[in-house]
Amino acid sequence: MPDFTIHTHPVLAVPCPDCRAATGAWCKRPSGHRAADLHRARKEAADRVFISQHGPDATIRFDEDLDRWQIEAADICAPAAP
Ligand SMILES: [Zn+2]
Repeated sequence: MPDFTIHTHPVLAVPCPDCRAATGAWCKRPSGHRAADLHRARKEAADRVFISQHGPDATIRFDEDLDRWQIEAADICAPAAP
């Protein structure tokens, strides 16, 4: 199961279906040089896996104090009725 918190970028938790970069490796241009950005297909794949693991309302953010990514589950409490 991919771990979205252990890489420098959460999307690196899945391999790239576009340039075939492995899990943990940055995307490559056809020349083999490092791509400026991660491929869109990889970001979409990461989104799908993240949602299947953590649900559609979970989020991930970088915690500067802990110096690592943190997954935050959606608030399951419904807002109080007025
Ligand atoms: Zn790629």
